[in-house]
Amino acid sequence: MLRIARFSTSCTVLGPGKRGVVWFQGCERKCPGCTAPETWSKDAGSEISIHHLVRAFVEIPRLEGLTFSGGEPFLQAKGAARLAEECRKIRPEFSFIAFTGFTLEELLKEENPDHLRLLANLDILIDGPYRQEEHQNLLWRGSKNQRVWFLTPRYEREWKPRLHETAIRMEMEMNDQTIHFMGIPPKNFRDNFREITRNLGLEELK
Ligand code: SF4
Repeated sequence: MLRIARFSTSCTVLGPGKRGVVWFQGCERKCPGCTAPETWSKDAGSEISIHHLVRAFVEIPRLEGLTFSGGEPFLQAKGAARLAEECRKIRPEFSFIAFTGFTLEELLKEENPDHLRLLANLDILIDGPYRQEEHQNLLWRGSKNQRVWFLTPRYEREWKPRLHETAIRMEMEMNDQTIHFMGIPPKNFRDNFREITRNLGLEELK
């Protein structure tokens, strides 16, 4: 089982191509300005079986792969690695990306077997916590300290030259009375978004 905040089967702003995204529940960092504070509590969100998630993603046509966001995916590294491995058995062409508040050096230094197993399944790692004082709208990142690591050569040639592009890439997804945003928002977006959704009579979640 995994504890997640939510998942989406169609996102084009959190990595190359059309991707599934899993927002993991639980993060201990509490970075000021974090755009997803509802993912901090380890008790919130909901439990979902890896099997259920695999079925939800592998049947989506033209899906490039999955992105793990959060919350902190590496707090559930064993389950995230298994999710990647089970998906690849059915869709071997899937790629995998993870966002993390850890640095790659920290993950490697610990030699935690679950962390290493998740890293071994990834094509791209975006590392480091969000730092409000270093905010910048970079490709897939919200602050300058965050780095994009190409752990396999799959996307390096096409995407490495684009890493310094500054752009805001976001998508909205609406289910019933709840609106979710996906992507890396501009500074203070969350407060403005809250006001807009309130004015429209909608509930707002990441
Ligand atoms: S590491 Fe990411 S999810 Fe966790 S508090 Fe920082 S910005 Fe938010």
